[in-house]
Amino acid sequence: MEDKACKNCGFVISHGDVCPVCGSKDLTTKWSSYAIIINADKSEIAKKLGVSINSTFAIDVK
Ligand SMILES: [Zn+2]
Repeated sequence: MEDKACKNCGFVISHGDVCPVCGSKDLTTKWSSYAIIINADKSEIAKKLGVSINSTFAIDVK
């Protein structure tokens, strides 16, 4: 995987070194799967991940 995922919230970052969601700099390229949240208000996955914005989130961050 080229993209980095935030270890704190799972947000997938395509460029930059800081998570724009939670501000964490603890990023990793070691993640294996992700969820694309398109309806954060109603998505069960979004609730499970604890996210409230529509974006791509890694769900298996190492
Ligand atoms: Zn984050």
